[in-house]
Amino acid sequence: MINKPRGTEDILPEDSPLWRKIERTAHEVCENFGFKEIRTPVFEDTNLFQRGVGDTTDVVQKEMYTFEDKGGRSITLRPEGTASVARSFIEHSLYAGPQPTKLYYIISCYRYEKPQSGRLREFHQFGIECLGSSSPATDAEIITLALTFFKRLGITDLKLNLNSIGCPECKKEYNEKLREYFKQYENELCDTCKTRLERNPMRIIDCKSEVCSKIAEGAPKMIDFLCDECREHFDKTCKYLDSVGVEYVIDPNIVRGLDYYTRTVFEITSDALGAQSTVCGGGRYNGLIEEIGGKPTEGIGFALGIERLVMIMKAQGFTGDVASGTDIFIGSIGDKADIAASVLVYNLRLNGINAERDLLGRSVKAQMKYANKIGSRFSMVLGEDEVDSMQANLKNMETGETVSVKLNADEIAKLL
Ligand code: ATP
Ligand code: MG
Repeated sequence: MINKPRGTEDILPEDSPLWRKIERTAHEVCENFGFKEIRTPVFEDTNLFQRGVGDTTDVVQKEMYTFEDKGGRSITLRPEGTASVARSFIEHSLYAGPQPTKLYYIISCYRYEKPQSGRLREFHQFGIECLGSSSPATDAEIITLALTFFKRLGITDLKLNLNSIGCPECKKEYNEKLREYFKQYENELCDTCKTRLERNPMRIIDCKSEVCSKIAEGAPKMIDFLCDECREHFDKTCKYLDSVGVEYVIDPNIVRGLDYYTRTVFEITSDALGAQSTVCGGGRYNGLIEEIGGKPTEGIGFALGIERLVMIMKAQGFTGDVASGTDIFIGSIGDKADIAASVLVYNLRLNGINAERDLLGRSVKAQMKYANKIGSRFSMVLGEDEVDSMQANLKNMETGETVSVKLNADEIAKLL
């Protein structure tokens, strides 16, 4: 017996309606906000993530699925979507079209993590990216898109946490302050954070280890070191959010997982999730496009974990779109009727009807039992007589009523 790889999940038919509802809602909301869908490869050149996600991040340092392909190239299964979208934006000169470029995606992602509730090795994200606008109105638009999505799904009890992590200018001074602070605890920090102390002390604030996060609680906060421009950007973002009645909490501890975030960062959390409480995370990454070889371009986006969203929805008692079910079951007795049933089922399906027939060579009694079991709304049994006369009884399975109908898919379809 071969089992699924550790940290992966099968989405079985009982759950896929919920997934489809989520995906359909994502497509609809993105359309309302003027975002267009982009699909990029599952794997990319490893360099893209090293540079695009940043090599001081957990994702690059510990979690990537990297391998050499038969041509000796270093390939990585995408751990997230932003870097690929940024690459595609540069590669296809999307900056030459009307700006900003507003894109969204629904993708699988791969991270070598310790599997636990809400933390998988293969998981799915719904994400959006807006490239080419530095206006704080964009920051507010991205956040309201996420909230509209949740609202349209009917989800309540979410919390929006907001912060600004400044620009490379104000980060410089702040990083110095952070280094000074964490230096006092250098011996207590985890090995990864020891290496971060020099290269990127802000990452320590995001460390999951108990000791590091305890130490980080007392660290200086970026929001207190913002330069005038970053301060203004943050205040305006808040003002736009206030103007549409969005509630948020300013949380100076959010720094986010990517290296190239600048200014606005945010997370949406749910109490229904336990330890892995963040369902959606996003922010501005004004340095990313340049970092991977494009012209300086501002960007902002979010990514939302679909498995965590499914957990919230199940906890809140949601089910998915109701499947339309079987419209009609065509039973048959004998070889001649068996062929006639096949033809009729085929023609009904061509007409968009959910039609079923027996595929196991069952007796007519067992066929009808099956029709009941699958909840077919109508049924019909074909024998030699029905085929010769091209006429049969159509039975409404709920009321038991029958009507005689011509064996013609168009005629039958009208009655269902
Ligand atoms: P976390 O702090 O939980 O590790 P992260 O900062 O690594 O999250 P992002 O890279 O921002 O996460 O990804 C955005 C969203 O994708 C997360 O908020 C979460 O909902 C989801 N996500 C991230 N990693 C996983 C995973 N291993 N399994 C399931 N969902 C995940
Ligand atoms: Mg993570």
